[in-house]
Amino acid sequence: MPFARVFHTIHRRHDLTPTPSSHLTHLECPECGKSFDADTLQTICKACNSPLLARYDLAQVAAQITPAEIMQRQDGLWRWAELLPVRQLRYRLTLGEGNTALVETPRIGENIGVPRLAVKDESTNPTGSFKDRGLCAAVSRALELGVEEFVIPTAGNAGGSLAAYAALAGARAYVFMPADAPLTNQREVAQYGADLVLVDGLINEAGKQAAAVSQEHGWFDISTLKEPYRLEGKKTMVFEIAAQHNWQLPDVILYPTGGGTGLVGMWKAFHEMIALGWIENKLPRMVSVQASGCAPVVKAIQENAERAEIWQNAHTRASGLRVPLPFADRLVLRTIRESGGTALAVSDEAMTDHQQRLGRSEGIFAAPEGAATLAAAEQLARSGWILPDERVVCFNTGSGLKYT
Ligand SMILES: *Cc1c(COP(=O)(O)O)cnc(C)c1O
Ligand SMILES: [Zn+2]
Repeated sequence: MPFARVFHTIHRRHDLTPTPSSHLTHLECPECGKSFDADTLQTICKACNSPLLARYDLAQVAAQITPAEIMQRQDGLWRWAELLPVRQLRYRLTLGEGNTALVETPRIGENIGVPRLAVKDESTNPTGSFKDRGLCAAVSRALELGVEEFVIPTAGNAGGSLAAYAALAGARAYVFMPADAPLTNQREVAQYGADLVLVDGLINEAGKQAAAVSQEHGWFDISTLKEPYRLEGKKTMVFEIAAQHNWQLPDVILYPTGGGTGLVGMWKAFHEMIALGWIENKLPRMVSVQASGCAPVVKAIQENAERAEIWQNAHTRASGLRVPLPFADRLVLRTIRESGGTALAVSDEAMTDHQQRLGRSEGIFAAPEGAATLAAAEQLARSGWILPDERVVCFNTGSGLKYT
């Protein structure tokens, strides 16, 4: 039986507050509204082929706790425990994920025409990408519900992240990754003792193979949005952004989109914060940034389509964006439209250029996916979609070191 390690190095010294409990009530299908039991292992709504969303008793959370009290707790993902799915303390795994810096970046900001720019720098997560937030929450919850063996299809970073949390938990992990994914991604999976299967094809092919072995061996398939809880871990990114800006939200958020959990998770978190009375109902415009070599979401937004179509011959150096067809396309497209946002694609050359500009002017070595958001912000400022006095947050979703 696994054991959650408490992260002692940053423990608060006089933390006498009782362990917060999860206020998870049920899961809900956003398409048909049907409700599902949250205390058994669930995957998707099969009738709608849709992800399930976790729902909480927000009125009770609001009555019990204020954000100021939460900010007194030990930092990291689990400080938001009321709004996360794991009930028992011993299953709350941690490698020290979350609690990343929101860095004011006025020099590059001025340079690209967005003077009030900040970068939420997810590269400092334990395995070097924001994937850790999602996998921390999802692996923890799956263990609590009895899972001991995991399988994941990945474009790169999610595989290393699952492998790390599985190692911490003493659980087995099987990772299906495109054979041409960055070498660092392949090596880190082995380093954490997980099994790596290299796939001839992209993440959708890896997904098919993972689903097949999951069926065959009973391993739990922890694919993006095919279980409800990776999304919950990702939510914490915007709880942090709100807290880091005194519960005032930025005007625009730019996010690199592959499978779309980041975007959808943030939008869900905003609505939870409104229901809790933590923020006012003026939400940021959400911008989905993709690579010009793989931009199914951008195409669907431009064509005003309700579903995305599979992108043929997907290619980009930003491996996290090499997702030809996101499973949660409906939720991703709705998020962008509801927020008054937009979607745009940038070239690999623009990513490389902005990686270098960000590194030189701010000391942040961004993943190409993260650098893509700066290239997109520059385009949007130039076209007048972003105004000069607007507060803008770009997400650097991972460390550039993983791509060298
Ligand atoms: C996975 C990944 C993305 C895409 O995130 P989604 O939530 O799948 O849209 C972006 N950047 C990096 C570095 C990633 O690893
Ligand atoms: Zn449904």
